[in-house]
Amino acid sequence: MSHFKKIHVKRSFEDGAIIHASSLSGQIGLIHGFTTRNAGNILDENTSSRLLRQTGMQELRLLTQVHGKEIIRTSEMRHLPEGDGWFGEGVAGVLYGIKTADCLPLLLFDPITKHLAALHCGWRSTLAEIVPSALDLFQSIGVNTGNLLCAIGPALGPCCFEVGAEFEKMVDDSYLKPADGGKFYLDLPSLVKGQLLNGGVAEDSIEDTGLCTLCEDSSFFSHRRSGEKERMCSFIGVRGE
Ligand SMILES: [Zn+2]
Repeated sequence: MSHFKKIHVKRSFEDGAIIHASSLSGQIGLIHGFTTRNAGNILDENTSSRLLRQTGMQELRLLTQVHGKEIIRTSEMRHLPEGDGWFGEGVAGVLYGIKTADCLPLLLFDPITKHLAALHCGWRSTLAEIVPSALDLFQSIGVNTGNLLCAIGPALGPCCFEVGAEFEKMVDDSYLKPADGGKFYLDLPSLVKGQLLNGGVAEDSIEDTGLCTLCEDSSFFSHRRSGEKERMCSFIGVRGE
């Protein structure tokens, strides 16, 4: 699993508040990023307002996330619809956001049709196959998943994602490393990458920050570290012409 591109952590704005993936940065008219602790808690209105100002966008749409596999269309107009992903052709000026503080945020973009997706991949949603579901949606509109650009943001890494013995029955061995007391460490980023590859995504189109929200960088919120209620935001959207 060593051929994936590690995102060169390029931070923007005066305080390094946002991390960008290089492949998505190269797409004209596409706005994306992963906020850090320095950007503030996305549940705080000041934070979302500042994010809109910094990105030049008009609106941030978020979900009522439930650790399931429901993917909401970007044309959805309900406020905070229940689901764990966005998919579709972005409405100009709108950022589609996923809130996380350990769960894995995944952004996808098809450069040909300009369709995008943002997924909240905690272990529950990942095992419920939200990633293959999103790839099915891209395929349903004729997208060749081999063209997709994918970026994995900061998440609880294999160094820190301790899970119970029951995971041995739920997850392929290759994604588990034994820990003390019959427990395991789950490699969620590799599990997600495996699902992307199985769905036809090209290995060199998958970028990963490789940053662990718990241990590698104190600039992330981590629910597991301290039960923090704050959330970071991973976002993607298209600018108006
Ligand atoms: Zn870690």
